[in-house]
Amino acid sequence: MGGIWARRCTTLLRPLDRRGKITLRRLIVGALKRCTNCGEEKPPAEFSRDRSRKDGRYSQCKACVRRWHQENAGRLAEYNRRWREANRDKQRAWDRRYRERKRGRTSDAPPEANDG
Ligand SMILES: [Zn+2]
Repeated sequence: MGGIWARRCTTLLRPLDRRGKITLRRLIVGALKRCTNCGEEKPPAEFSRDRSRKDGRYSQCKACVRRWHQENAGRLAEYNRRWREANRDKQRAWDRRYRERKRGRTSDAPPEANDG
């Protein structure tokens, strides 16, 4: 009764043993993601989240992104400065609006929406 099935069950479980090919390590390795910049395989936690991507992660690892930011810190600051100069009017208008709001014009603020 149930002889062949019992045996089959054990053969199915066997690959999980030390001689088997499907090991826990292989399962973990299979979940690794390769960084397109440094080419290293790292766990998904080493990649920043990016909802616009299919797998929900950046294609470059955190270390590479961090290094990129460090290497381009000067260029980014320069870019920001230039943007601010080019959009000075916009920036000023935004600043004024922000300050007005901060001054506390709560009287004409809409009542708290409670239609959740
Ligand atoms: Zn990398």
